[in-house]
Amino acid sequence: MENINQYYKVLTIAGSDSGGCAGIQADIKAISACGCYAASAITALTAQNTVGVQEIHPVPIAFLTQQLESVLSDISFDAIKIGMLHSTEVILNVKEILLKYQVKNIVIDPVMVATSGDPLLQSEAIEALKKELLPLATLITPNLPEASLLLGKQIKHQEHLIEAATTLGQICDTSVLLKAGHFTDDILTDILFDNNIKQTYTFKNKRIQTQNTHGTGCSLSSAIASFLAKNQELDTAVQNGINYLHQALEQGKNYKLGNGHGPIKHF
Ligand code: PLP
Repeated sequence: MENINQYYKVLTIAGSDSGGCAGIQADIKAISACGCYAASAITALTAQNTVGVQEIHPVPIAFLTQQLESVLSDISFDAIKIGMLHSTEVILNVKEILLKYQVKNIVIDPVMVATSGDPLLQSEAIEALKKELLPLATLITPNLPEASLLLGKQIKHQEHLIEAATTLGQICDTSVLLKAGHFTDDILTDILFDNNIKQTYTFKNKRIQTQNTHGTGCSLSSAIASFLAKNQELDTAVQNGINYLHQALEQGKNYKLGNGHGPIKHF
């Protein structure tokens, strides 16, 4: 049950997007819009706009560790959202901290490629992400290309989504929200595999036609982490997260910002 007098606290561990559409900036907006308190630990700085990622500047590991120690030793978080991790070194470092602090709701968006197509995770780090970090998650939220890379095979048809989500959940021993937005169908079908009760759920939504999709993955995973922080059940938190994203896409669909993929509208 949600306690209306409690300020639920969510930590985001992710990269910064100077353009303000995705990464830490999207996370803080989504977490705030979902009624929680947002803190952050930044893994990498990106020089980025709506068109693409121009440069990535990784934060030194010792300083990432200091950010995590500073916030986790002082604040008791109700959930953690994890986004861009960039390298194997960052993945192993974050794993160590998660094991030390044992926060209960961990949502990992296995960010690999930006909406613009620019890589955000070094390809040699995918195995470490899969083996070392994803098994610590309450939920992982891959899109189709990310799920294909994690499974090591293409997911070609809607009919294969349930099998793909279930297999990925079994391999990584975690719950999976497989997002099917990369299929071109008018109706979007997302699949949740709940690893605790070995059950799948299907969420269907009408596609919103817009260029403004930059930061959708970040925002959805942050919204779900916020609803989990408020003690909602996994399927309810996922449904509320999808509803939040749908509404923010609808509100921002005619927004004009920059020359590429613009942001969703959180407020
Ligand atoms: N994290 C960072 C720092 C990014 O710059 C991006 C995309 O540009 C992402 C995550 C993933 O973005 P999306 O939510 O559009 O998948």
